[in-house]
Amino acid sequence: MSFQNPVFIPGPTNIPEAVRKACDMPTIDHRSPLFGQILHPARAGVQKVLKSTSAEVFIFPSTGTGGWETTITNTLSPGDRILIARNGMFSHRWIDMCQRHGLKVEIVETTWGDGISAARYEEILTADKSGKIRAVLATHNETATGVLSDIGAIRRAMDAANHDAMLFVDGVSSIGSMDFRFDDWRVDVAVTGSQKGFMLPAGLAIVGFSEKAMQATATAQLPRTFFDVQDMGAGYANNAFPYTPPVGLINGLKMTCDMLLNEGLENVFARHHRIATGVRRAVAAWGLDLCATSPDVYSDTVSAILVPNGFNGTDIVTHAAEKYGVAFGVGLGEVAGKLFRIGHLGSLTDVMTLSGIATAEMCMVDLGMKIELGAGVAAAQDYYRQVDAQEQQDAA
Ligand SMILES: *Cc1c(COP(=O)(O)O)cnc(C)c1O
Repeated sequence: MSFQNPVFIPGPTNIPEAVRKACDMPTIDHRSPLFGQILHPARAGVQKVLKSTSAEVFIFPSTGTGGWETTITNTLSPGDRILIARNGMFSHRWIDMCQRHGLKVEIVETTWGDGISAARYEEILTADKSGKIRAVLATHNETATGVLSDIGAIRRAMDAANHDAMLFVDGVSSIGSMDFRFDDWRVDVAVTGSQKGFMLPAGLAIVGFSEKAMQATATAQLPRTFFDVQDMGAGYANNAFPYTPPVGLINGLKMTCDMLLNEGLENVFARHHRIATGVRRAVAAWGLDLCATSPDVYSDTVSAILVPNGFNGTDIVTHAAEKYGVAFGVGLGEVAGKLFRIGHLGSLTDVMTLSGIATAEMCMVDLGMKIELGAGVAAAQDYYRQVDAQEQQDAA
């Protein structure tokens, strides 16, 4: 594997040089105001990235998976009923975690490649007259299939059903890359990690809690110690954690929030959309299909590309690593072998993306797929050239 090439896995993402330096810090006293000067701006930055003015942001030494556990253990009790759709490996894993914690999980089985059906959620919530369902869970961007679900529509479905459940959203591969509206959608807990849209190494679980979710912590009975948000909040009040914080990573988070906010969230989202559209143009030029079943669910952070019969998506990923030193994502679970994934989130430009498209193309030709060398690259180049011209016109 070459350390010069960008990675095209959907997390961990490429780390900007300045961010690596920000993470590389001398030891400081982690129970001092100096630590507070890192921690509090990082939390305020996350709140802005979530488009919230009120979310309580907690940062744990963990990963996105620990964020899931933080969400459920702080708000729910054993035997509580929850509603969640399964449409890929990440929603599947969250379901598995909920079941292992003794929650009663109502699963909406969904074709891998489809988005969450807000209509189905609305039916189930409407039928739940006595309000037994305590929380509605949703994976905003199913990283396994490259499918973006409409969280605004889910909130509208909850409102239409006049249901009072909390709304928990896994935004691990969307937050900081695609539009996420904590306040507008009245999200109760948003979950992410450091190594995707925030362009950091893995090591942080990042969650935002609404006032309603904070109130639920008072009665929630699921066991929690390491992930207790009340303990964490009490630590923050003293410029500290309940244990030793990963200071360098949090310093990096402070910087990446500034980077995202300085670029402008809408510009960040537009950049991801432009890059993703170029990738999709390439996929179309190759004559291949995405796992995502319709354009309204196309993800701007990851494209899962179905390979033709007789080929194995994992072989493309292995070949890319061995021959070209470039990382793509394999298919997971139900779609293992059937596809490969191009991650296109985080610190990425059109030009970097072209190298990924070119590499995928070389691999597919090497492995005998009927693809014309350059076809996908040309389609993406054509698109990137035109958008830039359009943007210059708009700016003029
Ligand atoms: C990566 C990812 C996770 C898991 O995060 P880890 O940091 O690997 O624990 C959860 N959900 C989604 C949608 C993801 O993309």
